[in-house]
Amino acid sequence: FSEEDEWWLTIFARQAAVAIQNANFYRETRRAQQRARTLAHLISQLNQVVNPHQLFSQITEATCNLLELPAAALYLLNTARSGFEFQAQRGLQPQAEHHSLPLEASVAGRVLRLGASLAVEDTARLDKLFFLPLASGKMPGALLVVPIRQGAQGRVEGVIEVYAAGPRLFGPEEIALLEAFAGQAALALERARLYQHKEEFLSMTAHELRAPLAAIKLSAGLLESSLPASLPPALGQLATNITRSSARLNNLLDDLLDLTRLEQGRIQLRLERLEIGEAVSTALHTLAPLFTQKEQQVQLERPAIEYWVNADRARLEQVLVNLLSNANKYTPVGGQIGVNFRLEDGLGITVAVQDSGPGIPPDERELIFERYYRRAMHENVKEMTGSGLGLPIARVLVELLGGQLWAESDEDVGSRFLFRLPLC
Ligand code: ADP
Repeated sequence: FSEEDEWWLTIFARQAAVAIQNANFYRETRRAQQRARTLAHLISQLNQVVNPHQLFSQITEATCNLLELPAAALYLLNTARSGFEFQAQRGLQPQAEHHSLPLEASVAGRVLRLGASLAVEDTARLDKLFFLPLASGKMPGALLVVPIRQGAQGRVEGVIEVYAAGPRLFGPEEIALLEAFAGQAALALERARLYQHKEEFLSMTAHELRAPLAAIKLSAGLLESSLPASLPPALGQLATNITRSSARLNNLLDDLLDLTRLEQGRIQLRLERLEIGEAVSTALHTLAPLFTQKEQQVQLERPAIEYWVNADRARLEQVLVNLLSNANKYTPVGGQIGVNFRLEDGLGITVAVQDSGPGIPPDERELIFERYYRRAMHENVKEMTGSGLGLPIARVLVELLGGQLWAESDEDVGSRFLFRLPLC
């Protein structure tokens, strides 16, 4: 080669080096942007979960997605047992469920002592006892362990472990990313715990209030029936007010306890074969006085044939009564309410309760299924009493029966609540 060839090639090589550097820089920037977007998305998803167990598995799933690695696990510190106890995993073999990590000798234990994240680039040097096989059956090749810190002092209360299939390095930005995520996961866990405490407190209070309330109701009933006719009618009215208000309070307590029990799976369903059209007629019959009182027209399009579902009679009626009494409550005097059925091949039978009330705007169509959520009412509709528990209870019940419940609505045209149950 001539000197000129060499000169040209050197210039070209320098340009190529700049181009490669640019390409790498571009790839890293793209990757960082992508990860920041994924992180933001995963954090917003965490904030929607209040059940701690659901949250644990969401955290492990999000960890895998964030670092694009096949497996992750979450352990919480149990000081009484001097170890970290398994809570949730993704991509590991199912035996993980009963696993725990001792404080001595495990990587998690070292993370606790150091108060900092640790990466093991090649697990060949570690004791196999302290980590679990991947779903593929092979041992992970590398792992990164970051602490989950709680409270102002940043006390370590658990760890997130993420595993790679083969040996590999964990870059500082990967460690920082998982640490940032662990910080958000700790906040979500704290929130879920507070929510749980609030629910426990509420259901305990509801329990405690029941006995004195039953006594008030009974006494007011006795008082009402034994008042002498000579007394001014206003006194009788006072006794009636006490009976009515205590009945309302009793219903509210029932709803509170019901929802907590349903969510904790503490309610036993008595399943039997039921004809859905008949269940709807019974619920309509129970509520007939309310529709008459508001001069509302109710139209039931009973299907030409019978549709049988496997359900608990009382609970199915509770769902229907909740939907129909809402239709009655939120639809103005003289409005229309309709119930119809639609068979969906392979999916089951859908029951729709339609009304001519104020409707529900799209951004609130899911929110109304959250407990205690109540909409600010439409200007044409008077403020209504309620607890914001009817719809969440109805939804949990339908889901326990193997179906779905949702709302469709065009504002100012009315609402449509639909639930679908599998046929039997
Ligand atoms: P409650 O009726 O006791 O407030 P629900 O859980 O049954 O509680 O309903 C939650 C909220 O959803 C209600 O406060 C109301 O704002 C809205 N909603 C429910 N049903 C209807 C309906 N048929 N039409 C309009 N809004 C409704």
